[in-house]
Amino acid sequence: MLDIEAPRLDAAGAVRIAADGWGLQAAATPLPGEVARNFRIETTDGQRYVLKIQIAADSVAELESQNRLLAHLAGGDLGPRTPRLLPARDGREIVPVETGDGTGWARLLTHLPGRPWAETGGSPELRRELGRALARLDRHLATFDHPALHREHPWDLRRAERQRRAVAVIPEPRRRRLVDAAFHRFAAYRTLHGSSLRRSLIHGDANDHNLLVEDGRLTGLLDVGDAVVSWTIAELAIALAYAMLDEKDPLTAAAEVTGAYHAEWPLDDRELAVLFPFACARLAQSVVISARRRSEKRDDGYLYVSETPAWALLERLGEIDPAPACDRLRQACGKPSEAATAMAGPGALLAARRDRIGPNLSLAYDPPLHIVRGFRQYLYAADGQPYLDLVNNVCHVGHCHPKVVTTAARQMETLNTNTRYLYEGLTAYAERLASTLPAGLDVCFFVNSGSEANELAIRLARAATGRRDLLVLDGAYHGHTTSLVEASPYKFMGKGGSGHAADWVHVVPMPDGYRGRHRGQGAETGRQYAAEVERAIATSPRPLAGFLCEPVLGCGGQIVPPEGFLDGAYEAIRRAGGLAIADEVQVGFGRAGSHFWAFETQGVVPDVVVLGKPIGNGHPLAAVVTTRAIADAFANGMEFFATFGGNPVSCAVGMAVLDVVEDEGLQARAAELGERMLTGLRRLAQRHELIGDVRGVGLFAGVELVRDRQTLEPAAQEAAAIVDRLARRGLLLSTDGPFANVIKIKPPMVLTGDDVDFFLRELDVELQATAGRRFCSDG
Ligand code: PMP
Repeated sequence: MLDIEAPRLDAAGAVRIAADGWGLQAAATPLPGEVARNFRIETTDGQRYVLKIQIAADSVAELESQNRLLAHLAGGDLGPRTPRLLPARDGREIVPVETGDGTGWARLLTHLPGRPWAETGGSPELRRELGRALARLDRHLATFDHPALHREHPWDLRRAERQRRAVAVIPEPRRRRLVDAAFHRFAAYRTLHGSSLRRSLIHGDANDHNLLVEDGRLTGLLDVGDAVVSWTIAELAIALAYAMLDEKDPLTAAAEVTGAYHAEWPLDDRELAVLFPFACARLAQSVVISARRRSEKRDDGYLYVSETPAWALLERLGEIDPAPACDRLRQACGKPSEAATAMAGPGALLAARRDRIGPNLSLAYDPPLHIVRGFRQYLYAADGQPYLDLVNNVCHVGHCHPKVVTTAARQMETLNTNTRYLYEGLTAYAERLASTLPAGLDVCFFVNSGSEANELAIRLARAATGRRDLLVLDGAYHGHTTSLVEASPYKFMGKGGSGHAADWVHVVPMPDGYRGRHRGQGAETGRQYAAEVERAIATSPRPLAGFLCEPVLGCGGQIVPPEGFLDGAYEAIRRAGGLAIADEVQVGFGRAGSHFWAFETQGVVPDVVVLGKPIGNGHPLAAVVTTRAIADAFANGMEFFATFGGNPVSCAVGMAVLDVVEDEGLQARAAELGERMLTGLRRLAQRHELIGDVRGVGLFAGVELVRDRQTLEPAAQEAAAIVDRLARRGLLLSTDGPFANVIKIKPPMVLTGDDVDFFLRELDVELQATAGRRFCSDG
């Protein structure tokens, strides 16, 4: 509808329509309008009316619904008056007329006295009147319905994503970011509360040109053309966006309207939580629509009336954190402050942490984030700032997924014991897990962390082969226990590490086709790296129990091994009598997109599979799955028992995670969004020299930054600076790899295409900004 211009019709045409249809002898003066051509009709005896002419794209059913709505409003006690409909001489309320653009539909309304609020400006009393009027309006509208008002409408806040997708039309990068930030907050709060907000019919456009003021009182409310069944709170959010325009203290203005609304028609906590970000989103919608019209060179001045003050207000509101703003609106409603302690700043928490927590546990991001809530792909900080989580692959199906949460709670209420009892959950889950793996991998062991699972995998390999030594990849991390630190070059070669491998650990080069010993992603490079494995096996002082590696390397820097590497490496280790152990802790459960398990992308089947992180969506669960023969070899008489491993709650949670991955089609989503992500990143690489390599499978990607594409000098400080600055913009990522110059992307799999595009836009800006800064190699 937004794309439809008002019909071309001049005043003479309007005079003719008023005479033919309503028998009025009158003069006509054009009035502003977005999709209707409006005229003030003044008869010779001084009576005034408004003639509205719309072209056929507004379906007659919609006009009919608006007419019924006007009649309903006329019967309400709102305070300000609303226009009434005047039937034509023949009794019709909607009269077909010829316009310069084909058939149009004419309606005649009463003319209300007063000047637009936009001209008079607001006052505290006017704002309170507005709040009261809107509350009465919404209460009155809650008793009205019409099928045509359950519609898709471009200005409906529920469809703000549509404008979000068009932010590229804003030519100025700074302004584009401002709008992106507003839409980001909107999307985050919509995600958190959108589905549980009250819905009802709303007027949907109580803007400063639709409100009439006379003698300092609010006397009229015009234009039901945007009425739509939406979130009830959208009514107030939209009104606030305009009531704050040009105000020196916009939050106080918003609080005045909100308090008066609440006194008349109470708001609930969720509505108050979304009100501020939703009002900002309305401004963002408005400026995007203006930018679009400018790009289409539409020249009706009325289409841009709010543009300049809307930009100014967006800029000011962008500097206000959502939590204090929300608190201000809560207090205006007489509700207690929610954010006071949370917003006190990180000082007290940091001090407590220093006192009570081991010092070698670092904090992500500078400044550190105080997170109070998580939902789907978002984390929410104490100051209300939402963060798009692009790095947590543990909360695989989304933070606090309701199905996982309720499943865990229900099972906790019912039974939580240990694996020495019979219960269906254990075997049903083991069965289900095995069904996702290739035939033969069908015996499960349940533990509580990836480290425990890798420990167990090594024990299994040792028991099955009677050998002790292990082959691992350089740069790999497999866990934090004593043995696994020894088996993780990432640790023992890193800060505080021994600086050398333990006698039972043997290291082969990372199959890094970008900067490794052999370059390229093809089969030849895969063979070269597999040959390194063969060489290591041949030169090992003792025969090996197994080769432990991630099918796609995480801490090693998001490295996708070249084609055929795993096949060759597995063949070599098996030929030498060892086991192939796949650590799927980071990459499993559909994240690879094309396959459920990352080892499947290389066409191999391991002997032992290690599962962790995403398996319980944050609940401490991990597993080892192997063959019957290996499991039997492990059963040498020593009992295997882990107190919490495989308990009824864990099994129920694991089952729920698998259900959600399947029900929500998350593997296919990872494939689709991973493609979108990698394509977008590769496009950025064409424009930003800093990007040396883009790689990944599904939603597990890495962007390696270099200072020089020839020497591959790692750009670690640049990567860290970009990650920190993106965090300040509300996007969470991390860096990793041996040179800490790889930006890691491994989000919850409920990410959306809009999230990917937002991230790409923000990364683009930060890469641009970083290219202009100087970093020295020595810090
Ligand atoms: N394996 C890999 C590949 C990992 O990334 C990790 C954790 N980062 C682990 C094992 C250890 O898992 P946890 O921290 O659950 O012990």
